[in-house]
Amino acid sequence: MKKTFSFDAAQGISAALLRWFDVHKRPLPWRERYAPYEVWISEVMLQQTQMERGVTYFQRWMSRFPDIRSVAEATEEEILRHWEGLGYYRRARFLHQAAKAVVEKHGGELPGSKDALSALPGLGAYTVDAVLSIAFEQNVVPVDANVERVFSRLLDIGSPIRKKPAADIVKREALRLLPEGHARDYAQALMEFGALVCGKSPRCTECPLAEWCEAHRLGLERERPVKDAAATMVPVTSAHGIILCQKHVLLFQRPASGLWGNMWEFPGLDRVSGDPLAELLSMLQERGLKVEVLAPLGSVSHGYTNHRLTAHFFRLGLDEGLAMQDISKKLDGIPHRFVRWDSTGELAMPAHHRKMAERYFMRKVRVYAEQLHL
Ligand code: SF4
Repeated sequence: MKKTFSFDAAQGISAALLRWFDVHKRPLPWRERYAPYEVWISEVMLQQTQMERGVTYFQRWMSRFPDIRSVAEATEEEILRHWEGLGYYRRARFLHQAAKAVVEKHGGELPGSKDALSALPGLGAYTVDAVLSIAFEQNVVPVDANVERVFSRLLDIGSPIRKKPAADIVKREALRLLPEGHARDYAQALMEFGALVCGKSPRCTECPLAEWCEAHRLGLERERPVKDAAATMVPVTSAHGIILCQKHVLLFQRPASGLWGNMWEFPGLDRVSGDPLAELLSMLQERGLKVEVLAPLGSVSHGYTNHRLTAHFFRLGLDEGLAMQDISKKLDGIPHRFVRWDSTGELAMPAHHRKMAERYFMRKVRVYAEQLHL
């Protein structure tokens, strides 16, 4: 493993990287003006998201929230609704809180100092460095998985990349190679190069940095970076009921803190250990709801953090003659609401509930339900 680049190699890599970026950079919407707000949103959205999908979400977000003030003034419901599908909803909540803080403390303009940005909710070291370098052209380097991969190969770092000493070496060398006055392009070039050339399957034959790449010289590029032992996916089973009453469907609101906070979902259990239906019915009974099983609706698979969820859904019927007000009385103290069966799209829902809502309401039953006056 190399611990550092020679002066000539450092100069050569920086220059080659910037030349490559000049020719190959993708035309992305936040690259038109490099407005700090747009750069910030793009960086938060692109964490854990494919570029194409990120661009679609970014454009939709900007047409609804053109500036920080509009984010600050929106309801959390709206913010979550526009974030829905990107996952990691804590990011959306932090973004909302940070926008409010920017309006309160900085007159609605994102500040350009490390201290002020770091004090905003949810802005970690990576996002702060990304905003400072890309939006404000300050001499810092955001280190994401792409940058880690590129440096682990250039230097042939054979120890886990997120731990010391590897993490420190990457940070130090990435900063050392930063050409004065080119922070914006250099940061983006590194990330773009890691995404398009030095990806999981590196394209070494067309790589402009190959002559300086130690892992490539040793034939070890596919073994770099060395990662920590992969976290195993934990299987989880949940159970939920779709309960209709007078053309409206019953939804529960999740607690504000914790997974999918404040989002709306079909009543049910996040985890069942035995028979999903039996446990679901017993939970509803405990809440005073007597239901009958009308039909199993199948299951939806969904991955989140290190969990692989299988969510089972059932169509449940209420005692005949019960009106929405009767049910609301029984559910006193449980945050819930009845929503027109064709309006669930207006509320923020966890992805597995959204999938089932679309499957059940939007595609198959629209006509059927109207005919039956559900
Ligand atoms: S030679 Fe291959 S491994 Fe090395 S930087 Fe280029 S693409 Fe990455």
